Amino acid sequence: MTRSLEQVAMDLSQFYHRVSLGTFPTPVARISLAGIKSDARIWIKSDDKSSRIYGGNKSRKLEFILGQSRRPVLTFGPLGSHHVYATAMHARALCRQTAAVLVPQHMTPHHELVHTKILKLCSPVVTLSASPLALAAQVGNVIELSKRGPMGYQICPPGGTSPIGTLGYVVGALELAAQIAAGQLPVPAKIFVPLGTGGTSVGIAIGMAMAGLVTETVAVRVVPELALPKISLAWLMAGTLRLIRKAGLNAPSKKDIRFSIRNGFSKKYAVTNPAADNAMQLARQAGIELETTYSAKTMAALIADATGAARPLEPLLFWQTFADVAPSL
Ligand SMILES: *Cc1c(COP(=O)(O)O)cnc(C)c1O
Repeated sequence: MTRSLEQVAMDLSQFYHRVSLGTFPTPVARISLAGIKSDARIWIKSDDKSSRIYGGNKSRKLEFILGQSRRPVLTFGPLGSHHVYATAMHARALCRQTAAVLVPQHMTPHHELVHTKILKLCSPVVTLSASPLALAAQVGNVIELSKRGPMGYQICPPGGTSPIGTLGYVVGALELAAQIAAGQLPVPAKIFVPLGTGGTSVGIAIGMAMAGLVTETVAVRVVPELALPKISLAWLMAGTLRLIRKAGLNAPSKKDIRFSIRNGFSKKYAVTNPAADNAMQLARQAGIELETTYSAKTMAALIADATGAARPLEPLLFWQTFADVAPSL
């Protein structure tokens, strides 16, 4: 007997003790970008609305990660990291504390804002120094930190990206496939999503293949190749497929997983560029808020496809991964 998409998602959720942190399914809608010359149909999947605690793409991953333990959480990220903020907000909703280890990076006003929230939410916070000597001294602090608490900390990886976190987006893609099956939107030819630590895009690509859809997941690279080489993505994909099989489900074969990396839309991590600024403006006119590190660069790649010389394969789907932080905290 073949299981329904909903049943497969439920099986994965139960087997891995997924906790509920969000409101799903997130909405899908057709959008029009008034400023571009293209008749490609463009759709959006609004994961900005994934949670009342804090939306965006981290909540799906955290539902699986935080389901693995009840210990306080230790996590990592650059200053102003959405991931650290999301982890602290969701852990707090489960009455768990978050300790954070942060590394310096280029700071926009948006990063500054998120950073002030992180300082209020997390304890302790260790900000690593950029200088190698000071850094070496701090490593000891971090190791000490990891041993504290009655049972120590649960380690939450940077970006919430591990095979278990990636299952959140496998389930996310199954959710999209169910919306397609229900006639809410056509099968997208391509899904555009940022490539930061990879959990979001790899999970979506696996989930679409599990649903038997021939959609290509286009992962728009916002981090340098050195920070996330292809081998890490292959490892992540293999590990996630292993977890799916361990739960007694049919994992798709690698050749059915349509995943591609789009380079050239982000010269420097967290630093914007004219195409991203333009995409941000066009999206804002359509009522969609983006930020410069991930989502604006991803929208820029979608726009380049929609307006390119060759007639684009369509419909295109923009997977919104950004949610603004709560104004009051
Ligand atoms: C963290 C983040 C991403 C990165 O997703 P990965 O799963 O790490 O590739 C994308 N978009 C936004 C808005 C984020 O905050």
